Amino acid sequence: MYFQAAVLEKKNTIRIKKLKKPTNLNKGQILVKILYSSICHTQLQEIEMKRGKDNYIPHCLGHEGVGIINKIYKNCKKFKVGDKVCLTWVKSGKTLSKGNIYLDNKGKKINSGPVHTLNEYAVVDESRIYKLSNINNIRNKVLLGCAMPTTFNIFLENKIKKNTKICVLGGGGLGLSFILIAQHMGINQIYLLEKNKNKLKFLKNKFKISGFNSFQQIEKESFDLVVECTGNLKVFEKSPELVKKFGGKVIVVGNYDKKLFSKLDPWHIIEGKTLKGAWTHEISFKNKFKKLENIFKKLKTSFYFSNKVYKLNDINKAINDFKSGKVIRPLIKMI
Ligand SMILES: [Zn+2]
Repeated sequence: MYFQAAVLEKKNTIRIKKLKKPTNLNKGQILVKILYSSICHTQLQEIEMKRGKDNYIPHCLGHEGVGIINKIYKNCKKFKVGDKVCLTWVKSGKTLSKGNIYLDNKGKKINSGPVHTLNEYAVVDESRIYKLSNINNIRNKVLLGCAMPTTFNIFLENKIKKNTKICVLGGGGLGLSFILIAQHMGINQIYLLEKNKNKLKFLKNKFKISGFNSFQQIEKESFDLVVECTGNLKVFEKSPELVKKFGGKVIVVGNYDKKLFSKLDPWHIIEGKTLKGAWTHEISFKNKFKKLENIFKKLKTSFYFSNKVYKLNDINKAINDFKSGKVIRPLIKMI
């Protein structure tokens, strides 16, 4: 039996291919029937070859999705057939299977990593899936695969008090996930920098927050915390200017093109400002996923997808709409 998969063949070239459904699974491998998947900016960088040399071309794509377990490897204790799961790049425990090689309908080898989601079926590693407690609103739970765990981890690793004055840089999937969780936690001094004026207007109304569309409008050194979600190096370099001396913190969440280097002013560090990432320990999300899922149930997240649902065959349109800002996150329905 063959299934459809989006395959990256070369820079900016994705083709839908027919891949053979594997019959044997190795240790750690779980076969998941994918229901929905989404795409983030890190995946765009992968497609645009901005993440360094790609030694695995041609390969499968995607690292955020939801699905149903179709088959498990022999002696698997963690999951059973029929479990509804979230697929993610966020690890839990040891990686037992580093990937799978599929055959297409012409016998050509197609690579895949421990997680991939832009396929009707995927052989993934057990460390990259989490059992969902229920299937209510399952399509929105693709968000649990990337932006949500990353921003949620900021709250787990940093004591962010209710009166913390925060500026979020970038109103994409990461920035909005952070704002949703922050408001759920009762934090109400939230500001957003978003250069797209229409988007900013929409988000200011939606979240009842203050907003700016340029750095010139923001008062320097007035924030306790800045969360940099743009992945833009110029924004990254300016972000420490916004936090208070002696105690201000910048958390860098956006991903930057590889091989770019920054001209960061060292005086920001001398003046007691902290720069750090969202993850300061080696990622293991094992016990955190349930907590996040419980919070997620209470968040209103449908606006991410603007009522648009793409088919896998429309993957290139979904990517173009995402790049041009027509959707915050493209939602792809597999079957
Ligand atoms: Zn992602």
